[in-house]
Amino acid sequence: MFCPKCGALMVRKGDKWVCPSCGYEMPIEGNPRKRGKVVAAKKPKETIIMGSSYENLPKIKGVVCPVCGNDEAYYRIVQTRAADEPETRIYICTKCGHVWREYA
Ligand SMILES: [Zn+2]
Ligand SMILES: [Zn+2]
Repeated sequence: MFCPKCGALMVRKGDKWVCPSCGYEMPIEGNPRKRGKVVAAKKPKETIIMGSSYENLPKIKGVVCPVCGNDEAYYRIVQTRAADEPETRIYICTKCGHVWREYA
């Protein structure tokens, strides 16, 4: 789930998606159960990039952050399910932590 506003990878918080980059919120669609029970979120900070800490990701130079203009970013390649679809690169700015994506 990506933020429709800024394109960053969104984080699930309870029954909604929250954008860690711009704060945009949207409800999770197709949620059949609405119980008034609050389940403790499991490590919400660490699930931003598919469950792994981005400090361990490879860095790439020459990718300019759209937010702060820094030219170094961590990157991760995400293979889409359909084989004929292009892979997606997710970049995380090493300076401000902004997350964005790009189709290869
Ligand atoms: Zn956003
Ligand atoms: Zn940045």
